[in-house]
Amino acid sequence: MRQHSWAEPYKIKAVELLKMTTREQRDAAIREAGFNTFLLRSEDVYIDLLTDSGTSAMSDRQWAGLMRGDEAYAGSTNFYHLRDAVEEYYSYKYTVPTHQGRGAENILSQMLIRDGDYVPGNMYFTTTRLHQELAGGTFVDVIIDEAHDAQSEHPFKGDVDMAKLDALVDEVGAEKIPYVCIATCVNMAGGQPISLASLKAVRAWCDKHGIRLAHDMTRVAENAHFIQRREAGYENKSVKDIVYEICDLTDIATMSSKKDAMVNIGGFLAMNDPELYEKACALVVVYEGLHTYGGMAGRDMEALSIGIAESVDDNHIHARVGQVEYLGNRLRDAGIPIVLPIGGHAVFPDARRMLPHIPQEHFPAQALAAELYRISGVRAMERGIVSAGRDSVTGENHKPELETIRLTIPRRVYTQAHMDVTAEAMIDLAEHANQIRGLKFVYEPKMLRFFQARFEQV
Ligand SMILES: *Cc1c(COP(=O)(O)O)cnc(C)c1O
Repeated sequence: MRQHSWAEPYKIKAVELLKMTTREQRDAAIREAGFNTFLLRSEDVYIDLLTDSGTSAMSDRQWAGLMRGDEAYAGSTNFYHLRDAVEEYYSYKYTVPTHQGRGAENILSQMLIRDGDYVPGNMYFTTTRLHQELAGGTFVDVIIDEAHDAQSEHPFKGDVDMAKLDALVDEVGAEKIPYVCIATCVNMAGGQPISLASLKAVRAWCDKHGIRLAHDMTRVAENAHFIQRREAGYENKSVKDIVYEICDLTDIATMSSKKDAMVNIGGFLAMNDPELYEKACALVVVYEGLHTYGGMAGRDMEALSIGIAESVDDNHIHARVGQVEYLGNRLRDAGIPIVLPIGGHAVFPDARRMLPHIPQEHFPAQALAAELYRISGVRAMERGIVSAGRDSVTGENHKPELETIRLTIPRRVYTQAHMDVTAEAMIDLAEHANQIRGLKFVYEPKMLRFFQARFEQV
C-alpha cells in the first residue's frame, strides 16, 4: 500500500467556485489591506494558503454528523462521542471542549502558571506564548539549535535539547516550572516533528523533577507520520498507534481541532488528572461555556469526533503530507530556498535568502507574501519578525532567525494543479525578487500584531 504515490483516498462530491482576478485588482486589494495578507478579503484570493486552520474540507460522513447535532445546553450526546473519541485515539480520560485551541491554552495557563514561573517549550507558538505571559509566566525555548537553521536537514527538528532543560532547572528550580509544553510537528520551526526518543527523554526528565508534561497536539497525526517514516522501530506501526503512544506519554493536551481533525471550528483541553479536570470545568464556564460544550455546537462536536478518526488513517496522512512534499519538491527543484526538511502542513520559502537586499527591520517575509499575492492571487502568511512580536518586558522586537513565508496547505481542498500554479508563481517571484521593496509599519497592534498590522512600502 505504501508503495503507490500520494494520490488522494477520496473523490470530490461538491466544489466551491472561485473568482478569478486581474493583477490590477490584486494590486488595489493588497494596498487596501496595508500589505497584510490577513486583511485581504477571501473572495479576492485564488489559492488560499494563508493557513490550514479551519480550512479543511469535511468528509461526507462529517457533514452527515452535523445533522446528528444534539443542541442541548447540558449533557449533549455529541459531547460524549467527542470524549470517547479523545480517549480512544488520544488516550486522555477527561475532555473539556473549547471554542478553539487558544481557549484551551488560556485555561491551561490560568490553571497552572503562577507569577514568575517559567514554561519551557520546543519553540514558541504565537497564541501559546501570549497566554503563558498573560498568566505571569515566561516562555523559555528548549528546542535543538538545528530548528532555528533553515538549512539544517535534521530529521527531527522538533526535538528538545535536554541540556537547555537542565540549565533552566539549575537556574530557576523545579518549583518555578509548572509544566513543560511540547508541540508535535512544530509549526514555527516549519512543521517539523519531534521524535519519540526525544519525547521519552522529556517524560523521564519531567518524572525526575516532578513536573507535568503538556502537549500541544494540534498536528500530532502529521508528527506520527514522520516518526513512521524516519524513526527506527516504527516503520511497521500504524499512524493511529503512534499517535496514541505520543499522547500516552503526556499528562495534559491542548488541541486546535481546526488543523489535524479537519473541522472548521473547535478545540479542547484534555487530561488524565481528575483534580485538574475539576479545576478546568470551573474555568471553562467563565470563558467558553458549560463543560459539556465549551463554546462548540453539538453538531460541531459530532463532526470533530468523526474527524479525529479520519485524521489518523494512514492513507489520509500519506496523501496529506505527500501533497505538501510535492509542492516543496517543485520549489526546491527550481532552486527556491525553503526550510528543510519539507514540513507536514506547509512549505516555508526563506525570505532571508530570497530577499537579501531587505534588512529584517523592513520585514522581508511580509513583503514577499504581499508580492506573491499581487502577482498570482496566491495568499501566504508571514512567519518571521512580524509574527514574533516584541519582548513583553523590554519592548524590543524579537528577531527570529527564521524569516519565512508559509504556504500552508488546507487538508483535502486543493488539487495537484493548484500546487503547480503556486510553484510557478513562486518561480516568477524569485525571478524579480531584487525589485521587491521592504515595508514599514503604519499601524502596529500591541498583541499578536501580525493579524491586523498595516504597512507601507519604504
Ligand atoms: C493553531 C495553533 C494553535 C492555536 O489554535 P487556534 O485554534 O487557532 O486557537 C496553537 N498551537 C499551534 C501549534 C497551532 O498551530
